[in-house]
Amino acid sequence: MDNIEKMRKAEELTKEATRLQEEVFASQVFCTHVFGPAEYDPDYKMEPTGWKFEHQGSDCWESPTGYQKVDVPRWSKTCIKCGKKEYTMKQKAVAFEPDFGTSK
Ligand SMILES: [Zn+2]
Repeated sequence: MDNIEKMRKAEELTKEATRLQEEVFASQVFCTHVFGPAEYDPDYKMEPTGWKFEHQGSDCWESPTGYQKVDVPRWSKTCIKCGKKEYTMKQKAVAFEPDFGTSK
């Protein structure tokens, strides 16, 4: 496959992807969502692993020694009809349940 052929193929695939994304979006707009159970689905952020002092002349500053991935608590739910996925980082208290002790 030469470059011109590859570019044509890439353009064709991009158009197809756009068309499919539009179809999915249109079906999600008119869907009466039925979400499945929430799942723990953490996001992540990059945090410095430590700090070091650097200086040049009379200027000094701190800069990170490196970065590491850190989980950020997040939950997701997916619509079983259209596949739409919603995310939240919030939690709410769940109501207390009756406790009858250890008797069964
Ligand atoms: Zn839906």
